[in-house]
Amino acid sequence: MGSGKVFICSSCGERFSAMTGIGRLFPKIYEETVKKMRSGKYGDECKKFFKEHPEGAVNCEKELLICEECGVPKTEMNLSLYLPKEGAKNIPKMPFGNDFRKFTLYAEYPHKCDQCGGICNVVKSSKIKRMTCPECKGVMQEYPAGHILWD
Ligand SMILES: [Zn+2]
Ligand SMILES: [Zn+2]
Repeated sequence: MGSGKVFICSSCGERFSAMTGIGRLFPKIYEETVKKMRSGKYGDECKKFFKEHPEGAVNCEKELLICEECGVPKTEMNLSLYLPKEGAKNIPKMPFGNDFRKFTLYAEYPHKCDQCGGICNVVKSSKIKRMTCPECKGVMQEYPAGHILWD
């Protein structure tokens, strides 16, 4: 089950739900993501990675991303690529959360901002108290009763 926080813009009332984690459809989403990566939909690097490393894994957890340039948030799959650690046993086929302790990071996926094209960084929603409104560039603050569970 994923979880999330809600942020509300104090100027225009826009809501943003920062839903992170995985949902019930995770295995399906994982499979589809790997298929898309193999077919080149996520770029040549990901395609090459799975061709050269059939044992490789991708992080399909939803994360909160915030743009370095304009501060606008979005939620998207992490999409970092991982390789199993040498000698690790019982490697999970579709890893998430602590499973990644059995893996080493191969490459981080470069997330781009939809609004300004800047670089978006993965942040922990629990650490974020405010962000920039995608609509009016005002200040979005955490909704007090904003902790919700999804899926
Ligand atoms: Zn706003
Ligand atoms: Zn931006």
